[in-house]
Amino acid sequence: SQSELDYPFKLLEYLNGFRISKAIFSACELGLFDLLLQSQKSLNAAEVAQKLGTSEDGIERLLDVLVAIEIVDVEVVHGTAHYSSTDVANLYLAKTSPKSLHDLIIYNSQTIYPLWNNLVDAVRDGKNQNEKTFGLPSEEIFSAIYRSEEEMLKFMGLMNSTWAIDGHDIVTAFDLSRFKSIIDLGGCSGALARELAKEYPSSTVTVLDLPAVVQTAQQHFAQQDDTIAFQEGDFFEGEIPPADLYILARIIHDWKEEKNLKLLRKIHTACHPGGGVLIAEALLFENRRGPTTVQMFSLNMLVQTEGKEHPPSHYTRLLTDAGFRDVQVCRTGKSYDAILALK
Ligand code: SAM
Repeated sequence: SQSELDYPFKLLEYLNGFRISKAIFSACELGLFDLLLQSQKSLNAAEVAQKLGTSEDGIERLLDVLVAIEIVDVEVVHGTAHYSSTDVANLYLAKTSPKSLHDLIIYNSQTIYPLWNNLVDAVRDGKNQNEKTFGLPSEEIFSAIYRSEEEMLKFMGLMNSTWAIDGHDIVTAFDLSRFKSIIDLGGCSGALARELAKEYPSSTVTVLDLPAVVQTAQQHFAQQDDTIAFQEGDFFEGEIPPADLYILARIIHDWKEEKNLKLLRKIHTACHPGGGVLIAEALLFENRRGPTTVQMFSLNMLVQTEGKEHPPSHYTRLLTDAGFRDVQVCRTGKSYDAILALK
């Protein structure tokens, strides 16, 4: 095989990575995958252009890229290309699919992408770029994330969409049936809480989040006959209600060590004897040499928050310092992993 020194194939592919992401993001933002899903027949570029209100030349080039990366199918009839969706695009990219990653893509394209434009400064300064990117103070992470109603909705959509594909693995990583009262601290739109309620119907599941988040969750993400309850609160400044099990999903990675330890100690005090805490995070390997996606998440935390991603030993130490015992780690093999510790 040819060496990378003879010709830098792999390097060039990496350098092109942002174009691949942006091509998929743009197709999503234009509504291409929804159109292809809803269309009864395959469509040529002129038809797609007319329905989406784009230029024909532009959409044809975009469609051809999506064909090349196997997200769209093509069939050429009498010299004209007819495009149709693939099963993967229908399942994960169309807005209406229950497993849709649409909201994750919109957030990556419209919020994360501009932040990563300032990655050089983030690395140089060792801190988030909310100030440079959005003109908001870098210490108030969630004031930046929730800087408008629209941004709050987009962020909540992002949080929501992960659990459509990863939620089941997290709630079944351990048998949680003995925990009858469960509080999801910083549970956002309630997506993971609903997965818990589905798996453990004899437990009560409550989401505790900031007042504005709870209000938006109830307005925009509530379901008919909802299986979960919401409670407005502040896990740093306010009371943590007693419960058998606390969920901390993607919370620890947002904050500095001292705040996490303070939070875990507070949880330990509130927790019923024999209860516990379940942490859901993307775990680094112990030597931090991977997985690459988690290393990328950690860079993302640098650009957007005050936290980082960690290997399992870090969580074990934090939990033990806070008074928890019997720490168990479950790697799911997907994006997020689970850690259970008992009081
Ligand atoms: N647990 C959710 C998930 O994994 O999808 C959301 C994770 S998100 C990164 C962090 C959550 O913590 C947000 O929903 C945010 O509103 C909430 N949060 C931040 N500060 C908080 C505080 N002081 N009290 C309660 N919730 C807070």
